[in-house]
Amino acid sequence: MRTSQFLLATLKETPADAEIVSHQLMLRAGLIRQVAAGIYNWLPTGFRVLRKIERIVREEMDASGAQEMLMPAVQPAELWQESGRWEDYGPELLRLTDRHDRGFCIGPTHEEVISVLARGEIRSYRQLPLNFYQIQTKFRDEVRPRFGVMRAREFIMKDAYTFDISAQGMQHSYDIMYDAYARIFQRLGLEATAVEADSGTIGGSHSHEFHVIANSGEDAIAQCLEAGYSANVEKVSLPIPKHTRPSATAEMKTVATPGVHTIQALCKFLTAPPESTLKTLLVKGVEGPVALVLRGDHELNQIKAEALDRVATPLQFTNAEEVQKATGVEPGSIGPVELSIPVIADYDAVTLANFVCGANVDGHHLVGVNWGRDLPEPQQADLRRAIDGDPCPLDSSKSLTIRRGIEVGHVFQLGTKYSEALDVTCLDASGKTQTLYMGCYGIGITRIVAAAIEQSHDANGIIWPDPIAPFDVCIVPIGLKKSVKVQEAIESLYHQLHAAGFDVLLDDRDERPGVMFSEMDLIGIPHRLVIGERGLKSGTVEYRNRRDQAAQDYPLETLVETLKTLSNI
Ligand code: ATP
Ligand code: MG
Repeated sequence: MRTSQFLLATLKETPADAEIVSHQLMLRAGLIRQVAAGIYNWLPTGFRVLRKIERIVREEMDASGAQEMLMPAVQPAELWQESGRWEDYGPELLRLTDRHDRGFCIGPTHEEVISVLARGEIRSYRQLPLNFYQIQTKFRDEVRPRFGVMRAREFIMKDAYTFDISAQGMQHSYDIMYDAYARIFQRLGLEATAVEADSGTIGGSHSHEFHVIANSGEDAIAQCLEAGYSANVEKVSLPIPKHTRPSATAEMKTVATPGVHTIQALCKFLTAPPESTLKTLLVKGVEGPVALVLRGDHELNQIKAEALDRVATPLQFTNAEEVQKATGVEPGSIGPVELSIPVIADYDAVTLANFVCGANVDGHHLVGVNWGRDLPEPQQADLRRAIDGDPCPLDSSKSLTIRRGIEVGHVFQLGTKYSEALDVTCLDASGKTQTLYMGCYGIGITRIVAAAIEQSHDANGIIWPDPIAPFDVCIVPIGLKKSVKVQEAIESLYHQLHAAGFDVLLDDRDERPGVMFSEMDLIGIPHRLVIGERGLKSGTVEYRNRRDQAAQDYPLETLVETLKTLSNI
């Protein structure tokens, strides 16, 4: 490719509305342009990266026995009604109506479509196992599309679905996909970590996410490298704390705390540390509101709360009006003392003594409160999100470190959740009808582009891993229009490199060298060749790897061979 025929679309200035570095660089390097919130054009440079990612994903999926197919983006409402998700999926599902007033959605995922296909096509256990995949555009009406293609509304996903006759078969298909994912991320040049993930209603450790560790990541990952533990923070169960509750020494007193509505304000007002306070959250329960009590500095883990029998699923906080009705006070002054609704306290909240909490009187708090003396011992549960320094669930003598991660892939054992709802069965070896076991496996193709940039860039721009760079090599001529020798040399080299299988970008614009260098650095092309009269006199070309500061001269004659060894292509 020649720059004279190519839309580079690079920008000098950092766009003001792009918060994270990958979004900034994707705009500046001319990879994407926004069409609407969370909806993007992929410009030629960006599209080349996508194609390379897709190729690696395809090769590994094919090698693992999966078969590629293509399902429609638009799906009829009836399929979603049959699975129950027309209601459950919520506002992320973009719904539309056709001219005959029939309901449709734009697929955020394809369990329904594939299940109904399998229902029609799979008759016998002899056809199993089967693994179908596609690389296709999804739409999710995300509440907060942001960070460019990282959390978009329209995005490209590789999704795969496996069908097996038994739970063991499903586990086996899952293991194959897990290994394929590890290979895919390795081949993409990404450092991705597999973490245990919440598997919702299926239970067990039957779901893993693959994360690229980066500060801009939206997920929190708990890791204990020593014990070999990695999990999404949502998934971490915490043991009952070892320390016992100190004895009650203070007297319970009511203090006026006018205008204080948050733990932070309360701590400032009373000059008390947050770990000596309790916060009380009211959520909707199966039979009326339930109070969840946590230490002031701890956060509720919503998944743990949903797992409680008394709490309604999906988790919903009661609004101010409902709080008022249930407790007679404003949300900022609720506390567990003499509360007339069920109280469930987190293990750590139960180990506190002489604590501070809401008084159930507007604008008032209680200090010096003690469980068992001033209020009954509560029902206890593991309710909070894990934090840095918490004990590792595999070895409580070691502690967890919390890091940020970008979820680039997800493997999930679905069990019979969809096959039961959608009646996906076949005959087993004894001629009996069996409900099939399913797995689903996603990779965020477009998100990977952003994740790769988050992981690898510098002040000058993107530094692509070789396998996914839009171009492998760029040729930057010096004094192109003035020198026939340079013109001949770049043409010859361009063709040789092309013939050797390199994706080459030849900068034939005759711009100032500084301009060309900085643009090639911004785009992040891994290998740069500079050709000028001076070098040609001694038969050399200047080579620089995007990761290095220094350049080096190599003989022109053997350059193609040299590049083959210097690159991973
Ligand atoms: P998240 O928790 O980030 O919303 P998810 O659990 O909804 O992800 P899955 O349904 O497992 O995601 O989708 C499979 C993959 O698709 C994810 O691992 C991610 O890489 C990608 N993906 C999901 N939502 C988006 C989005 N809004 N924009 C870009 N990629 C996405
Ligand atoms: Mg999501």
